[in-house]
Amino acid sequence: MRQKFVAGNWKMNLTLPEAQALTSEIVQMLRDEQHGPEAAQVVICPSYPLLPAVGRLLGEGGKVALGAQNCHQKESGAYTGEVSAKLLQSIGCQYVILGHSERRQYFHEDNELLSQKLKAALAAGLRPIFCVGESLETREADETFDFIAKQLKDGLFHLSNEEFDKVLIAYEPIWAIGTGKTASTAQAQEVHAFIREQVASAYDAEAANNTAILYGGSCNAQNARELFSQPDVDGGLIGGASLKSRDFVTIVTSF
Ligand code: PEP
Repeated sequence: MRQKFVAGNWKMNLTLPEAQALTSEIVQMLRDEQHGPEAAQVVICPSYPLLPAVGRLLGEGGKVALGAQNCHQKESGAYTGEVSAKLLQSIGCQYVILGHSERRQYFHEDNELLSQKLKAALAAGLRPIFCVGESLETREADETFDFIAKQLKDGLFHLSNEEFDKVLIAYEPIWAIGTGKTASTAQAQEVHAFIREQVASAYDAEAANNTAILYGGSCNAQNARELFSQPDVDGGLIGGASLKSRDFVTIVTSF
């Protein structure tokens, strides 16, 4: 059976004391929850300066893994203000979100750049959570599938089979992010199944079957169980609701 995942994307939120308090609450609550072989792998993705402190609270070999929200495509060098995948790995990150729609929109990250970031992340030993998703305009023009197929082909499918094995995909319809408008379970399932078919054509049936595809976009404590019950939805990438410990832990246990 495919591994389930729930990743919290804290975005540019929380001060150090707030991040420490939230992490401690999540760790404590998860300790009290039942955890069997079915349990989801939990990942927390704070902003860069919070990573070491949050990592310390998660502890080595703990149930919750640490992830970053971005990385630079180069290994090191004169790139003022940037952070390399190698550095992230050295401070305890195991995952990195790449291709989030906010980075595509506000920082002009295109599929070509993201393909380089993926390579850098994988070379450093990080598992990328690669985000795809259409705007409302694209959906209304009935171009969702073509758009996502292109994001996958241009951004992701240049990876070797071995590299691709480490990748998680997040389907995040832009119109559902932070808007309170969730994709219906049928809409989510339809796109997730389509993504899995694309993986099967680009790689093979085994890769398609093993790839975790997460849903993101106003997923919350109320709707997570229904979304996660879909056969091709393997968990969630959670924004707003990951900033509330009780909501986040409810989502983590919604399988
Ligand atoms: C996100 O930004 O990855 C996200 C899914 O945000 P929200 O859950 O707030 O819609």
